[in-house]
Amino acid sequence: MIFLDAAATTPVRREVIEAMFPFLTNQFGNPSSHHELGEAAATALAAARQEAAAVLGCHAEELVFTSGGTEADNLALKGIALARREADPRRTRVVISAIEHPAIADSADFLRRVHGFAVDVVPVDADGLLEPATFAQLLAGGDVAVASVMYANNEVGTVQDIPALAALATAAGVPLHTDAVQAGGWLELAPARLGVAAMSLSGHKLGAPKGVGLLYVSSGVQIEPLIHGGGQELGLRSGTENVAFAVALATALRLGEAGRGAAVERVTALREDFIATVLVRIPDAVLTGHRTRRLPSVASFCFPGTSGESVLLELERRDVICSSGSACAAGSDEPSAVLTAMGVARGVAQTALRFSFGADVTAAQLDGAADELVAAVERVRKLGAQR
Ligand code: PLP
Repeated sequence: MIFLDAAATTPVRREVIEAMFPFLTNQFGNPSSHHELGEAAATALAAARQEAAAVLGCHAEELVFTSGGTEADNLALKGIALARREADPRRTRVVISAIEHPAIADSADFLRRVHGFAVDVVPVDADGLLEPATFAQLLAGGDVAVASVMYANNEVGTVQDIPALAALATAAGVPLHTDAVQAGGWLELAPARLGVAAMSLSGHKLGAPKGVGLLYVSSGVQIEPLIHGGGQELGLRSGTENVAFAVALATALRLGEAGRGAAVERVTALREDFIATVLVRIPDAVLTGHRTRRLPSVASFCFPGTSGESVLLELERRDVICSSGSACAAGSDEPSAVLTAMGVARGVAQTALRFSFGADVTAAQLDGAADELVAAVERVRKLGAQR
């Protein structure tokens, strides 16, 4: 099988399993317990937080372990919006981009429906990039509680200029959150260098298990917890901590960062070859997302005259695994909201396929996948023409 769906999820790395194993077995203590087993768990949790902070170049107290990217996004957007409005009732607006993951887009909608916030959506151009001047305009007025712009898009791989957008947000006095779930392992993650006030990560895109994530919140930013109880995670996320998964995420983050430079160089070159091959061999294929400002690991296309879902199934029959749009939207007949926000016609958006690579992808795998893709598109078109 050639697995080209790493943006959906990745297998757990062996080193990660080994690092977390003791905390699932003999060191199973509850970090809140006042005995040796509990204290050992608390020490391990603190060490994991410190390890993640060292990778990100931030303070350990600025990190909250969550159940994943979705929860980190929810906590950031809702938590900051609610806390900032409570501190200053004029802050009743939330600004997000038009290509956010549902974890942000639906959280913004919840803030609108249930809490009466106004939501402004910043449009993107045909490459999926935000227009900075429009962003700056929407941040003005002193009434924005929080803004959120995804770092790297999960469907087309377009990478926003987060430092430039963060500078605009800082100038407007608005905390900027970025969903960096897809950026982990590929892009610069240090919040201080990005200039962001908050940032979400997810373990299972990085070689840690599904069900663990991380939210960075700068120490100066007000935030309300969404889950109340025993006051764990510095009061921001109650519930007995998942020590094993925190250790797993910190380990995966450290390993990902250590290998990042080499992976970026190697995989970018492979991605370029793959894109070039596909565009030559399927001449009407359309690359989606920005030509160069994209994740090293994502090649996404539309194949007009096919159905993305049919090509996906045809490829699976041929042992090539990819995605038609994002995993969250898979199975839905609706064309991708990301592609339609980029101005892609609905009918064309329904022909989208995303190939996303792990750091260990090989040239032979991508050559094989390109051959199968050419054959699959041909077959789907032939079957369509016969109908
Ligand atoms: N944000 C982005 C950009 C994603 O791609 C995903 C998952 O695909 C998430 C958030 C959600 O993360 P999780 O699956 O850890 O909840």
